[in-house]
Amino acid sequence: MTSPIPLGAITIHRVVEQQGAYFDAASFFPSLTPDMLAEHRSWLEPTFLDPATGKVILCVQSYVVRTPHHTILIDSCVGNHKPRPNYDFWDNLASDTYERNLAATGLGVGDIDYVMCTHLHTDHVGWNTRLENGRWVPTFPNAKYVFADRELASWTARQAEDPDSCPWIADSVLPIVAANRAEPVRSDHRFDDLVGLVPTPGHTIDHFSVHVGKPGLDAFITGDMVHSPLQARFPEIGMRSDYDSALAGRTRRSIFGRFCDTSTLICTAHFPSPSIGRVRRWDDGFKIAMD
Ligand SMILES: [Zn+2]
Repeated sequence: MTSPIPLGAITIHRVVEQQGAYFDAASFFPSLTPDMLAEHRSWLEPTFLDPATGKVILCVQSYVVRTPHHTILIDSCVGNHKPRPNYDFWDNLASDTYERNLAATGLGVGDIDYVMCTHLHTDHVGWNTRLENGRWVPTFPNAKYVFADRELASWTARQAEDPDSCPWIADSVLPIVAANRAEPVRSDHRFDDLVGLVPTPGHTIDHFSVHVGKPGLDAFITGDMVHSPLQARFPEIGMRSDYDSALAGRTRRSIFGRFCDTSTLICTAHFPSPSIGRVRRWDDGFKIAMD
């Protein structure tokens, strides 16, 4: 169980679904050369890189943000009973971990007012829906689901063209649209004085991050703007499923520069627990300091 993080008027909870060594580092970061990996192994291992397998260690989690006005769940992980033949560690999960960890925050599925998906990849939309009598229904019965409008349009078009390339759209996104629960917004949409979206494009076409709180007592929930501390130290290192790696690199450099040496908490989706830190400079790049 993780501890809630109080931040002025808001509270942030992590809801973890999984953590493990899932992807081979060289294929996960296509531009990472063997020399570069060898040079940086010493600080990546054992927390961020598994010494035994050479695989990148990732956490899969949601962030729940409670404000005086709303309870918001950001990114909904992989989900249960979903065929993901390309990823054996995500294929047809049947685990109660996620639901138990959500319950441990003191919240139930009915308490979530908004689900925000930073982007529409398989590990960020899964719990949008659950299987009920053979049908995919919204997991969070009272929630509106916030998607970036161009992100939704792009994946909907791809699903129509080549459904096998993105099965998660059919079981975890389209049923939300069909149930009239989707709220497409621009990726710079401001909800209120405590919650706003920030466009962080590159990993996907219209990826957003979520900035919450007030100046001095704020947090930036990155989504997949960054996957590993290696991409903080070297913002230009792309990740294999990027839509536009060069753009993703510019986004990282700009966002990390913006928050460098401030008190803003950076809440990453995929860094291993505790996953959260503050941006500090490191040579010509950055680190997320977790102390
Ligand atoms: Zn992801």
